[in-house]
Amino acid sequence: MKLRVEGTADGRFGTNSYLVEDEDTRDAVVVDAHLEPELILEQVAQRGVTVRAIVLTHTDVDHIGGLPRILQEWPDVPVAVHDAEREVVAEGKPLRSNFPVEFPPVARLDSLVEGETYRAGSLEFEVLHTPGHSPGGVTLRIGNVLLTGDALFAGSIGRSDFHNSDGALLLESIRLKLMTHPDEFLVLAGHGPASTIGQERRYNPFL
Ligand SMILES: [Zn+2]
Repeated sequence: MKLRVEGTADGRFGTNSYLVEDEDTRDAVVVDAHLEPELILEQVAQRGVTVRAIVLTHTDVDHIGGLPRILQEWPDVPVAVHDAEREVVAEGKPLRSNFPVEFPPVARLDSLVEGETYRAGSLEFEVLHTPGHSPGGVTLRIGNVLLTGDALFAGSIGRSDFHNSDGALLLESIRLKLMTHPDEFLVLAGHGPASTIGQERRYNPFL
């Protein structure tokens, strides 16, 4: 497998969506669907890849707001989410009460399970449950790349001031599931620039 990961970000929240691609097979996975889904659709068309799944690091509205539009384009592509936030996608029950989202029915909803491998075409992700910012927050590892959602950012960590957040749990998630990786592992977060585990180990003031 020849891995290629490229992000796009929306202008309003600066939320990153990533296109993870196996250049050998042209299979791809979209990680998170920010509020400018046309950017994601254009990127997929440009790369000429086949999207095998849409994987959600968590279900805050800035990470799933583009999902209805994307599903309009690819209605049969499975959507994968941790069970703790499944109802957000399955029933349109918002993760935070003040941000409602309307969803079309999802044809196939897969579960991201801690410690298991999630397969989509030729791509394989290790699922690391990293709750704290939200109950079903996950980090996806593929090769030496960690897609950390809103758990770990370059120089920062996710918010934990929501009613269903837990700051102590977030720190524990980061320490036990993320900082155990080697320094050279890439951190591709839900917001902001790329980093590495080594850089965060040395410079992240929250850890
Ligand atoms: Zn976010």
